[in-house]
Amino acid sequence: MTFDSERELQRLEGKLKALRSKEYIPDALLEIVARTAAIQLEARAAEPAVPLPELATPEAHAQGAPLLPRDAFTYDRARTAATFGRLLAMMRAAGGSLGAAAEVVREAMEKGELAVEDACDAALRDDAAWFDAWALRLNDAPSLVRFLAMGSVVPSVEVLAQAVAAEHARRTGADQPGATPVVWQHGHCPVCGSAPLVGRLVGKEGALHHTCSFCRHEYRAKRLQCPFCLEGESKNLEYFTADGEPGFQVHVCTSCKGYIKVADFREFDRISIPVLDDLESLALDIVARQQGYARPTPSAWGF
Ligand SMILES: [Zn+2]
Ligand SMILES: [Zn+2]
Repeated sequence: MTFDSERELQRLEGKLKALRSKEYIPDALLEIVARTAAIQLEARAAEPAVPLPELATPEAHAQGAPLLPRDAFTYDRARTAATFGRLLAMMRAAGGSLGAAAEVVREAMEKGELAVEDACDAALRDDAAWFDAWALRLNDAPSLVRFLAMGSVVPSVEVLAQAVAAEHARRTGADQPGATPVVWQHGHCPVCGSAPLVGRLVGKEGALHHTCSFCRHEYRAKRLQCPFCLEGESKNLEYFTADGEPGFQVHVCTSCKGYIKVADFREFDRISIPVLDDLESLALDIVARQQGYARPTPSAWGF
């Protein structure tokens, strides 16, 4: 599978234009988003194919086992450290409280208190306690180290996830023309087992696709099901929209009080890049929270 970085860069430019029209997204944040996405695209284009590790058996997978659990993902240490360095330099240049926090991170690395590998390994195993220690130290930018670690492993993780999904499609025949699309029933990501970040509706019949919060794999999900607690009673599953945010829905579950945002751009000439759709619909997070709902997976853009 080839990665068309030229095309991705064009899509990114188009998406950033849409984001710039949102008055409530600060310019400084958009600048960081734009640079981060560009750094990741560049790193992604340079990622070589890696040999595939052993995947879950088709039988175990059918029962819901992820093909390759999140903590079994690998990444290239040297390239990832270089990406971490670029993201950190960008944050330092941003100035303000974010820049000051980035400076603390740089000093900690210099003193040997923070190793990029430790941060990236913590990101792979979703080690909240490890990142909490840094959050305490970086009051003004509590999620900065998490952002840097996740942001640096993303290129490797995406490439591996894509290879895993392709291999699975090949071995099950799902890559053949005319194959029945697989609707994944288990909530979490079929590739790595993490919770979904956002969703979008695709095609004439509005198939629901979720994008994984970790490996960014996009998969077709069950329409009437909470992806977090698997509630399937339609009376407990609702969605709402907001006048100021056409093209987005918020799917809520009254059982677990979780929500996920779903883009529906089928009637619009708009570009969907799921991780940026999430940012574009920031206003809906506020509405959802006001109504007592919470999202289990934070935005990729929290610092
Ligand atoms: Zn995943
Ligand atoms: Zn639920």
